[in-house]
Amino acid sequence: MHDALRAALEPVLRDVREASDLTADIDESLADPDDGEQPWVWFRILRAGTRVGVDPWGVPVENVAGIAEEVQDAVIETYGDRGTPRPWPACPLHQQKHKLLVAIVEDPAPHAAWVCTREGGQREVSEVGGLSGLR
Ligand SMILES: [Zn+2]
Repeated sequence: MHDALRAALEPVLRDVREASDLTADIDESLADPDDGEQPWVWFRILRAGTRVGVDPWGVPVENVAGIAEEVQDAVIETYGDRGTPRPWPACPLHQQKHKLLVAIVEDPAPHAAWVCTREGGQREVSEVGGLSGLR
C-alpha cells in the first residue's frame, strides 16, 4: 500500500475499532496500485464499506481529515442500515446527542481533529486517531 495512504488510514481505522462496536478492516485486494490513479483501498465496515483514497502528494493532515470524513459517513450509514441509527463519533460534551465534525486544527501544530461546533466556534474533542482516550 502507498505510504501516504497507509499513514492516513491508520488513525481513522483506530478510531472505528476503538470507539465503535463495528468491525472494520482494509481490503487491498481490489486496489490496483499501478493504475496511475491516486492510491485507494476499500475501507470495510462490517460487510459493506467505502472506497477511500488520498492524493499521494497532498498534505498529510488533509489526507487524514478527508478519509475521516468519508469513513464517518460510512459508519453512520452502517448504523442506520443495521437499524440502530446514532451519531458517530458522538459528542461527549453534549450527552452523545450529536456527531463530531472533522476539522484541521492549527494549534499547537496542524492536525486532523474531531471537533464540536454546537456552541459556536470549534472545540476540539480529540485528535483523529485518539477517540479511545475519551473513554
Ligand atoms: Zn458537542
